[in-house]
Amino acid sequence: MAQTTVSDLAKVVGVSAEKLLSQVKEAGLPHTAPGDRVSNEDKNTLLEFLRRSHGGRDISGTAPRKITLKRKTMATLKTASTHGRGKTVNVEVRKKRTFVKRSSLPKPEDAEQSAADAQDGAAADFPVNKLPPQNTGQDAQEAKDTKDKKDPRDKGTGDARDSDSRDKKDAKPGDKRRRDAKPGERDAAAKRGKRGGKGKAGKKTPRGADGKAAKRGTRQMFDEDFVLEGDDSESESGRRPRRGRKLKARSPLRKHAFEKPTGFIARQILISENNAVTDIAAQMSVKSREVVKALTRLGVIAGMEQKLDQDTATLLIEEMGHKARFISEDAVEKRLDEYLAAADAPRSPRAPVVTVMGHVDHGKTSLLDRIRKSAVAEGEAGGITQHIGAYHVDTGSGGITFLDTPGHAAFTAMRSRGAKATDVIVLVVAADDGVMPQTEEAVQHARAAGVPIVVAVNKIDKESADPEQVKNDLAALQVIPEDWGGDTQFVPVSAHTGDGMDKLLEAVLLQAEMLELKARRDGPGRGIVIESRLDRNRGTVASVLVQDGTLRAGDVVLVGHDYGKVRALMDEQGRDLKSAGPSLPVEVLGLNGVPEAGEPFVVAADEKQAREVAAFRQRQGVAAQPTAAAAQAENLFADLGREKAKTCNVVIKADVRGSLEAIAAALQNLATDEVKLSVVSAGVGGISETDVHLAATTGAVIIGFNVRADKSVRDIVERERLQLRYYNVIYNVIDDIKAVMSGMLSPEIREEIVGVAEVRDVFSSPKFGQIAGSMVVEGTVYRSKPIRVLRDNVVIYEGELESLRRFKDDATEVRNGMECGIGVRNYNDVRIGDKIEVYETTEVARSL
Ligand code: GDP
Ligand code: MG
Repeated sequence: MAQTTVSDLAKVVGVSAEKLLSQVKEAGLPHTAPGDRVSNEDKNTLLEFLRRSHGGRDISGTAPRKITLKRKTMATLKTASTHGRGKTVNVEVRKKRTFVKRSSLPKPEDAEQSAADAQDGAAADFPVNKLPPQNTGQDAQEAKDTKDKKDPRDKGTGDARDSDSRDKKDAKPGDKRRRDAKPGERDAAAKRGKRGGKGKAGKKTPRGADGKAAKRGTRQMFDEDFVLEGDDSESESGRRPRRGRKLKARSPLRKHAFEKPTGFIARQILISENNAVTDIAAQMSVKSREVVKALTRLGVIAGMEQKLDQDTATLLIEEMGHKARFISEDAVEKRLDEYLAAADAPRSPRAPVVTVMGHVDHGKTSLLDRIRKSAVAEGEAGGITQHIGAYHVDTGSGGITFLDTPGHAAFTAMRSRGAKATDVIVLVVAADDGVMPQTEEAVQHARAAGVPIVVAVNKIDKESADPEQVKNDLAALQVIPEDWGGDTQFVPVSAHTGDGMDKLLEAVLLQAEMLELKARRDGPGRGIVIESRLDRNRGTVASVLVQDGTLRAGDVVLVGHDYGKVRALMDEQGRDLKSAGPSLPVEVLGLNGVPEAGEPFVVAADEKQAREVAAFRQRQGVAAQPTAAAAQAENLFADLGREKAKTCNVVIKADVRGSLEAIAAALQNLATDEVKLSVVSAGVGGISETDVHLAATTGAVIIGFNVRADKSVRDIVERERLQLRYYNVIYNVIDDIKAVMSGMLSPEIREEIVGVAEVRDVFSSPKFGQIAGSMVVEGTVYRSKPIRVLRDNVVIYEGELESLRRFKDDATEVRNGMECGIGVRNYNDVRIGDKIEVYETTEVARSL
């Protein structure tokens, strides 16, 4: 092995011979001239000395790594404000590695070995000793390679170089850990080059390369320490990726707190005999597409509208890692029925419920008015008569309830729902006009429903009145008067003068008596909805007719998939009632949705039962929704016939069916001769891509009533410049659409969502109650702004925050990408996967 002189060594490490000599002297070695020989032992001693003294920055190749690294640590600290501690640790790791490596340097046998390695040329080697000035990643390496080729056994470079070659060689093939370590070295080297700045090659090295190498080094340290996917892309900026990584590889504390959400959440999926793919997907919080894919994996080819049987659904749910819980389609319903059946009680006579029918202008309204007026007059003077769709009259010999919606349409609508609300039909026939088409129709309705008729021969005050003709006409329709041997009472009346009104009521009561109408006075109330609406101040106002049992304030009422605790009961005059028995019409406050006319209601055992059944029916209802595509086709065809320019198209999505129908109906009423309104699509649930595409093709306004659109869907809305509006008050929908129709509404959205947080964990704290560990995924969450809780994009709670905390501290706002603990005031049912939406309302000047 060739001997090295002090000047040789100086050349190798890139310092002046004098400088090296002085250091050699300090190290206690005997060398005094540049020509003096340096043995391996000498080198070792020098190295040890430099390592101890920390003073070897100039001879950076031999020992200064520690210092350089420390500097680098500080630099990193600067770029990332918070987690400096973690980085210091990283540096220590590398220093250790360097130390081990360098310590092997002087061993002669190693040197031999490495010399051989260098010679075989396969190694991508570059001597670390030479690094200080030159070695900045690629450039340096290339330079070295060239040099090695030129002079593979360069005597001058000697042992030191060879040992490094060996090191490289070790690192060479497929050894990931080592490979990862390499850029670290490069990095250190690069830094040295920069710092030292004395080496000639250092000056030549482009700064950019320096920086790049440094950054890469840093990042790879992270990679290595956290065992993350080793993304070494140099095109990324140094800062960004580090941020991203920080989220993934945090201090153990953070990582622990929110570990769950990043993973899969196994849910309990409720299934029944028939299960819509969309419903299962919604319960799993995945796209229907995913479910279809999973089905395909199971060998089941199914569309999104497909209904899956219980076995397939179970298989699918387990395949997707969830748990299936079978709920018999009618289990909850059965339980409800059993409960109702158990509450049997003796029956007693009840008042008849009467519907007034007849041809237009024959005096239905006048007759009802006359009866009502007398009823009100008999009751409290000045009592405000409210329109609740029905009213109850107490005659001397018993009560009668009149359904206040005369007309065949209402009757038919109720009948089509299987509701039999009416006991007796009062058929009004004007004595001066006789039987007319709608009179005939009414007779047919009554007959089909098996409801007896009492004929009111009206307008007998008129001179042209001919009651006998009416009898003749009706007899021809098989409605035979009593005095002709039939079973139908004919009562001549005048709504104007009031003549015969008592007799009419008597006739009705007599008819009812013959029907032997009976009902239970006790037991849970049951009946039907006469009509319902959303009141701005009072919420859902439902007029119901109690048909059996007793409905009490405080009862939990279930109608279709709506339910609620009865907050108040009122009669037609707005008087508060404690309870209402059979045949009494009452207004009910407290339902959570707007039920349809004719829908039956029952009083449930408790809120839990009502909720269960409602939820079950809701699911069934959602599953039964026609596909948007079908609706689209249908409506588009319907649209073709119209003048497009004059049609206001709307897509309505609502949280519950009741609201949907109420909105659709209310909007239809806005249509005028000039501007038509077309509901392009309507459905229950969050706003989907199909909805917005449909809106895009038809230019429709999208109305979200207590439902929301996903981010992806909102992107489409933005791209297509569609009008998407969220509402929670039905009157605002109507106002806005009215304004749109008159072309007057400014497009601003009055409500702006300023932040959305996703609930990733839920825990309860004794001090703060339920806390939702959340990640802010959009905008900023403000402590003081109103919020909504969304589950599967449906609003399930509206309110405000009780607390907003970051780690242990109260926060007034938490920005996108940050985690926080959220406590919702007066709400303790936040679940993992829910979203908490923070919004603010801004007043937009409107001119109508
Ligand atoms: P509806 O269309 O069946 O509701 O009939 P209305 O109650 O609106 O009455 C139609 C018209 O008949 C109105 O102008 C009433 O004033 C009139 N009318 C109703 N009942 C009587 C009545 O007993 N005598 C007279 N003379 N006119 C009546
Ligand atoms: Mg009328």
